[in-house]
Amino acid sequence: MGLVASVVPDREAVVRRLIFALLVAVAAVPPLIAQQRRPAQRTAAHRRPPVPTPASILGFEPGAERRLVDWDPIVRYFRTLGSTSDRVRVRELGRTTNGAAFIAVFISSPANLARLDALRDVQRLLADPRLVRDSAAREVLLRRGKVFVLITSSIHSTEVGGFFSPLDVAHRLATDTSSGIRSILDNAVVILVPSLNPDGVTIVSRWYNQTLGSNAEGTSPPELYHHYTGHDDNRDWYAFTQAETRLVVDSLYGVWHPQVTLDLHQQGRFGSRIFVPPYMNPAEPNVDPLLLQGDNALGLAIAWRMTADGFTGVAVNSLYDAWTPARAFQHYHGAVRILTETASANLATSVTVPAESLEAGLGVDPRTPSWNFVAPWPGGAWTLADIVRYQTASAMALLDHVARNREQWLRTSWQVLERAARGWPDWPYAFVIPTAGQNEMALGTLLEILRHAQVEVRAALGSFTLGFERFFPGTYVVVLRQPYAAFAKALLERELYPDLRQYPGGPPQRPYDVTAHDLALLLGVRVLAAADSLPVGLSAPVAPRPPLYRVPGLSGGGPGVVRLGVYRSYATTMDEGWTRWTLDSFGVPYESLVDSTLRAGNLAARFDAIILPSENARALLDGLSARRYPARWTGGIGAPGVQALRDFVDAGGTLIALNEACNFAIGALELPVSDALSDLPPGDFYAPGSILRLQLDTAQALAEGMPPQTIAWFESGPAFEARDPTRVRIVGRFPADPGDVLLSGWLLGASHLAGKAALVEVRRGRGRVILFGFRPQYRGQSLTTYPLLFNAIKTSAR
Ligand SMILES: [Zn+2]
Repeated sequence: MGLVASVVPDREAVVRRLIFALLVAVAAVPPLIAQQRRPAQRTAAHRRPPVPTPASILGFEPGAERRLVDWDPIVRYFRTLGSTSDRVRVRELGRTTNGAAFIAVFISSPANLARLDALRDVQRLLADPRLVRDSAAREVLLRRGKVFVLITSSIHSTEVGGFFSPLDVAHRLATDTSSGIRSILDNAVVILVPSLNPDGVTIVSRWYNQTLGSNAEGTSPPELYHHYTGHDDNRDWYAFTQAETRLVVDSLYGVWHPQVTLDLHQQGRFGSRIFVPPYMNPAEPNVDPLLLQGDNALGLAIAWRMTADGFTGVAVNSLYDAWTPARAFQHYHGAVRILTETASANLATSVTVPAESLEAGLGVDPRTPSWNFVAPWPGGAWTLADIVRYQTASAMALLDHVARNREQWLRTSWQVLERAARGWPDWPYAFVIPTAGQNEMALGTLLEILRHAQVEVRAALGSFTLGFERFFPGTYVVVLRQPYAAFAKALLERELYPDLRQYPGGPPQRPYDVTAHDLALLLGVRVLAAADSLPVGLSAPVAPRPPLYRVPGLSGGGPGVVRLGVYRSYATTMDEGWTRWTLDSFGVPYESLVDSTLRAGNLAARFDAIILPSENARALLDGLSARRYPARWTGGIGAPGVQALRDFVDAGGTLIALNEACNFAIGALELPVSDALSDLPPGDFYAPGSILRLQLDTAQALAEGMPPQTIAWFESGPAFEARDPTRVRIVGRFPADPGDVLLSGWLLGASHLAGKAALVEVRRGRGRVILFGFRPQYRGQSLTTYPLLFNAIKTSAR
């Protein structure tokens, strides 16, 4: 601990000076003076052009029936708001994947905006309780600080209410002179991100406007609404693979440390009208109980207020859990996360939902009142205007509550971070990450992730021994006595998902998302927990250079390179996007292959290998329905495509099928392999996104460079039995002992997997089909199994 201890006194002196300067700055404009200054500000505001309504820029009211707009007019509205209102400032954080402006809109009282830098420094001090040990100084900060509320919207671009609700919220905050709004502006700084996925706003709006009046009106576009991730864009909050996630984490969370966050989403049409927390079980065990209680209190405050204001169909404690950190960055950074899920229409086209068509879901029956659903919605028309009204009301209710309880929210966040900085008594002291024997790319990726999450990583200044193992200078150490320790703990320790059943002895209760998130396993980095403090000095926090992603023989293309095709379904799949993401980030050239190219045949002339990303057999074969979509997008691979794939393999090509696409390949290419899991009910077998143990035959080219034991990301995949061993080579299989199969997450019925093949190579004609019964490139995270996919491509050279 030598160096850490010696660093602190210096830093504390600097911090003490900073606090003093801040207290002077923050105290300079106490509320009374701010009140007296208002008339003067009003005079100044007179000289500005009037604050525009959203309709004056969009050309219609937000929520108007069958009206959607691109991203540009939305940005124009906020920029105009910023130039006309002294309560609004717009910042461009950077550019999206497709090059659009990514903006954040700061809204507060003019006095708060004028001293935003000082308030940011207060936030920084509150976010790191190690910096303010003096309780009197801390109390002043808690009394003087403002609550920072981050409101994010429309990360999912078919949830189109989220395009407009931020405009209404911003306009109201910018123009309303009521005491309620003034209190929000005085007590809070709102950071509004009108879209977490601006590219998707344009993709969905253009598709909607192009299909308006046709059978396709209200359908999802035939392309992913985020270039790489589609709907998975909201599952990236611990891996930080995408440009948009990084902008928010690095430029907002990492700088402004919001205490409260609100994320606007939409759900299906037939459930409650809106969901707000409390969340359902389970909560991820490293989330501080105080934050969960904050989620409960704030969610119920919103529900309470909305019910008072006449909103019906408000559900709490249903459907949505707090398990995966993939959606809940906030829960590991001292902030509550309020998710709202409002019922959908058909994009901007209204629908009629008769009461009798409402459907019971997990935790709520929208036809029956209950404690967590006190006032059912009577059914009837459901419009985009309703969605915007519900979303806006939820946001205003949240802001009202937060403003009234400003100090309590600051204290809640501070208390959570202080507890983490002191260290939970039952937590290990640190994680030790050796440098020797590690894959450099994987280790570099882990360190990058921790850096984005603002987790401090130190380096050992000398050698030390832990158990019987010796560690060398430079060994990385994550001390679990720091504000964001919970992030590291949740992602670096082995976790099993609780065995939740619909009733005792009954079938499993479906988790909201996947059940595993172990970065050490996914990346293939060795991490050890140290129970007690280490007998070695530690450096100041380090930030090593990010790794370079290259695959020898594939990256950068060039002569002799494998001609690779990646099938791109119009019935979009996120796995296809993640496949492109993986190839692009490693600079591996490929061509996207659509139905018409595939059906046209003669594929062997253009490709050596073709990847079929995970997609179920029916969707691959039939594609989008001709009843809804224009002919150009419909029909899937179809019979001509199946023939073309057979010819391609017979002529010597390699077909690589991922996960769910394996069953299509087995049927379409008549492979002598069967799926041992087909027709098993969930009561017998269940693995909703888990990390399993995989044993490899490393003598085979497909497993070259891999260790004999690795992982498989298992999610709706098959498990293979070879029917003709002369044609089927087994490269990877699950352990023979069912007790050895599960590494992290949830698995019921392990005996159905035990000993089954998970990666096989099947000969057909002069070519071969490689079947991956798992996702080797899962959400851009399972770096440890990328080489299996790269080997499959590499060995396709002809
Ligand atoms: Zn959503």
